[in-house]
Amino acid sequence: MNKKRIVIISVTAVALVVCIALAVTFIVLNAGGHRHKFGEWYTTVAPTCETYGTERRTCKKCDEYEERPVTRLGHEFSIANVCTRCKWEIPVTVGLRYTPTESGESYIVDAGTLDASVHEIYIPRYNAEKPVDAISYAAFRERAITFVFIPDGLKEIGLSAFSGCSELQTCKMSITATTIDNLAFNGCSRLKEIEIPPQALLGDDAFRDCTSLEKVTIPDGVTKVGTGLFSGCTSLTSVTLGAGITAISGSMFEGCTALTSFNFRDGVTSIGSYAFKDCTALKELTIAKSLKEFNSAVFQSCTGIKTIRYAGTKKEWKSIDKKDWLVNVDPDYEFIVYCTDGTLNRWNVDVTV
Ligand SMILES: [Zn+2]
Ligand SMILES: [Zn+2]
Repeated sequence: MNKKRIVIISVTAVALVVCIALAVTFIVLNAGGHRHKFGEWYTTVAPTCETYGTERRTCKKCDEYEERPVTRLGHEFSIANVCTRCKWEIPVTVGLRYTPTESGESYIVDAGTLDASVHEIYIPRYNAEKPVDAISYAAFRERAITFVFIPDGLKEIGLSAFSGCSELQTCKMSITATTIDNLAFNGCSRLKEIEIPPQALLGDDAFRDCTSLEKVTIPDGVTKVGTGLFSGCTSLTSVTLGAGITAISGSMFEGCTALTSFNFRDGVTSIGSYAFKDCTALKELTIAKSLKEFNSAVFQSCTGIKTIRYAGTKKEWKSIDKKDWLVNVDPDYEFIVYCTDGTLNRWNVDVTV
């Protein structure tokens, strides 16, 4: 009899354990406790010549989805400067000057004999049946223009091309631009937004002192960013880094006094010297594990930092070469670094264990 009772108890115990295990699994799965397994991206909003689209991918196990923007298509201009897709025609500004390139295959444009009373500029894609591929050095520097249309298809925006255009409010960018040269939009103090072309090399100080610029999205295809790129952009509150950025350049956001948070996404390995110097409103930093190196004084005078969220362990955080990252920040000033295995404070944050 005893043996039978033991068997019954054993069977009941096993059954109970199995039931609990099943119940837990059921609860976990239904609470979204699984690792989402996303399918292929599909278009939900189609892009047009001028507007961005949206694409989405959905989890194969639940209703969760991710969305991302799709770059606009850009106009496809004919030799007559009419878009073959949407039929829009560029109302080309009269008085611009076109200089043939050395090869004679294309033109470089500048302001030429443009009347000072002209405040809106439409640059053509074609002139005399040849493409206008570049805007020249200082082409529109310090001109009182409020609007510029740069045609899709144009590739290069020259050194200081729009530097000091303090009236410029709207820039319709060429989506195919591959170079935005040094100081190209330096001091465009009324420019509130700018579309960064998906494959562009961004030169030194290209958007320096654009004091009205509020939001910047760097596309994934951008890999090179010059020093001082957004320095002195005192209205900048939102920055989205693209996946192609591995190094934050020196002084890239120096003096961006409205910036309150920054996300160093995965893939960023180094931060250049003085990159965030004088970003006094900066409170919260999110740092991926890929970050390995700070150059000198990256957060000099950043007296507002409260929270650093780091995606690695305490030991990994301490192994980052930070140099003199907090120059001019009061040595008694407190902040917390949240790591995956606990927190660090100002007094143990730099010490290698
Ligand atoms: Zn899921
Ligand atoms: Zn079009």
